[in-house]
Amino acid sequence: MHADYQLHGDVALITLNNPPVNGLGYETRVALMDALSQALADAAVQAIVITGAGKAFCGGADIREFDTQAAFQEPNLHTLIVALEQSTKPVVAAIHGTVMGGGLELALGCHYRVAATGTQVALPEVKLGLLPGAGGTQRLPRVIGVEAALNMIVSGEAVAAERLAAIPGQSLFQRLSASADTLLDEALSFARSVAAVRPLPLVRALPCSHPQGDAYFQFARNMLGPSTKNLPAPLQCVDAVQAATRQAFDAGLATEQAIFARLMATPQSRALRHLFFGERAASKIPDVPPNTAVRPVAAVAIIGAGTMGGGIAMNFLNAGIPVQLLELQPEALERGVATMRRNYEAQVSKGKLKSEVLEQRLALLRTTLRYDDLAQADLVIEAVFEDMGVKSQVFQELDRVMKPGAILASNTSTLDLNQIAACTQRPQDLVGLHFFSPANVMKLLEVVRGAKTAPDVLATVMALSKKIRKTAVVSGVCDGFIGNRMVEQYLRQAGFLLDEGCSPQQVDKAMEAFGMAMGPFRMSDLAGNDIGWAIRKRRAVERPGMRYSPTADAVCALGRFGQKTGAGWYDYVAGKRDAMPSAAVAAAIDACRNAQGITPRKIDAQEIVQRLVLALVNEAAHILEEGIATRASDIDIVYLYGYGFPAFRGGPMLYADELGLFTVVQTMQRFAANPHADSGFWKPAPLLARLAAAGKTFN
Ligand code: NAD
Repeated sequence: MHADYQLHGDVALITLNNPPVNGLGYETRVALMDALSQALADAAVQAIVITGAGKAFCGGADIREFDTQAAFQEPNLHTLIVALEQSTKPVVAAIHGTVMGGGLELALGCHYRVAATGTQVALPEVKLGLLPGAGGTQRLPRVIGVEAALNMIVSGEAVAAERLAAIPGQSLFQRLSASADTLLDEALSFARSVAAVRPLPLVRALPCSHPQGDAYFQFARNMLGPSTKNLPAPLQCVDAVQAATRQAFDAGLATEQAIFARLMATPQSRALRHLFFGERAASKIPDVPPNTAVRPVAAVAIIGAGTMGGGIAMNFLNAGIPVQLLELQPEALERGVATMRRNYEAQVSKGKLKSEVLEQRLALLRTTLRYDDLAQADLVIEAVFEDMGVKSQVFQELDRVMKPGAILASNTSTLDLNQIAACTQRPQDLVGLHFFSPANVMKLLEVVRGAKTAPDVLATVMALSKKIRKTAVVSGVCDGFIGNRMVEQYLRQAGFLLDEGCSPQQVDKAMEAFGMAMGPFRMSDLAGNDIGWAIRKRRAVERPGMRYSPTADAVCALGRFGQKTGAGWYDYVAGKRDAMPSAAVAAAIDACRNAQGITPRKIDAQEIVQRLVLALVNEAAHILEEGIATRASDIDIVYLYGYGFPAFRGGPMLYADELGLFTVVQTMQRFAANPHADSGFWKPAPLLARLAAAGKTFN
């Protein structure tokens, strides 16, 4: 059953029961409607209370229904809300845990609302490029005022019930209960106390205005300004709330409906919904059942207190998990801990962290120089130099000391995980945990699955990633895993564009206008150009046929490794991150063109964007076909959280799907005719060619 029905004396209690968050899918709506009818038909019932089973009142509409007919199937959410409003017996919503989106809209259709302290209240639709489409933009301003409502609708952020209940004159909550435990009794007794009160109060009957009228809404639009450049929804939310102040209630509802329908059809909303589902899908591993028992992880050890080790440690400390940090030299430990403290102090000075919390976190940190001290850790993560010899020694030591069942992880970005596993007697316990720099900030975690990694090890690290607030994506073993293997092709094309006539700033500008957080050359300057240099030297031996623009080597030969050396593709002033065009780099690029006999040509932004993004797409198609990535959306999630790909475009794979794979293939064929762009690379990957020929998409 999707809703339970019980009598408590003369009050009917309807409990939404659709785990995990009582989403208002078709069956739940039918069950609620039936229960309401039953209560109305029973002469002994004087009042009705609606609540939610489990941890939440209601998480909202069932988003999976959005693109299907099921969302419209009667009773739809509008019909249900009107039925509540028209109930001849008072209906009280008893709200705890979370009340979001359609759940809040449903509650606003009830005559009264009682909430437990601590309840998280939100209209998060804007995060999916939409607005609340079941009256939220019309009813919320009527109960908490225009400004508070608009802030919630435009940000999508949750607000605690007690903060909303403190708004002077609010009529969102008639009672606040001390906790979820006392909520139901209070709601039932409140329902009895209002059972005979008539007329029944309706939110739709309340007035709605702002003292400054339209001037306020103009101010609100200005405030949103450039942050909404690529996202239409926030400004449309303002329009809808403004309609609540200008139009009669039903006309305002119709305005909201029309805007909702328009937003549903935008590519931006499609992209955001794709990523919403993609993020949830990424945590599922097809051959690892969701009920796989996980290993307990109560203590973590980290080998290496360098750039990555320190950042990785902070993630666990932030989650309250004790960490032991191991180095070979005391100075290295001191340096590592000092850097972590500095990072925390920077957060304190920005007001993002309380200083007592800083001390609590660092109190969970222990340091050591001896492997034997780590024996009892449940998980150990290696983050030492990227060198197979060093790593193999580390893993032999770990194999010797770690307790049976401990998970052994490597943060390697390029080495063969299966070879690392072979250094131990327990390859089933070994997994790759590829964090991105800065590891305490970047949300992405590539979980690298070795040939022998045990399913429960995978299940454990996937669950753990949530605790440390990372978004994990599983990758098979290959050079560069999902993200860096693709970015190599992206950077290769960026180099060829320099050979053919672009400047680094022209390429970066085009990619940033497309929406990337950073263009390829600014990104390289941040990561360190020496990393790519080392990879190219290795490639010259491993894959002698792989061609690169000579420009990057020329820039490295000048000692220009990026921000850390004060010069890279750009010039930098000490202490600042502003990238300034460099005459030395321009001269180096010119020299490379001359040496190759290339006459520079004018290249437009569209070609730059398509060359770079389709380079990602073609490599990704190989990655998918080889089974390195499980699904196309995993690749989009990697690019969203690891490489600054714009959310409103949904990731490289959705970008290709929206372009149409037939067009993608044709464009690649055009690039293949360019003698400077590596024709061989532009042969469409077999999977891409097949999908394009069949008129299908990646997703
Ligand atoms: P780093 O040079 O900053 O730190 C390495 C640390 O390991 C140093 O403090 C060093 O003293 C210590 N160390 C070396 N050998 C050791 C040993 N035998 N026992 C104990 N400690 C030892 O390097 P990093 O940038 O932190 O990289 C570490 C690992 O993370 C590498 O495998 C690298 O490929 C990977 N990685 C780096 C990045 C990045 O952007 N820097 C991103 C992802 C993954």
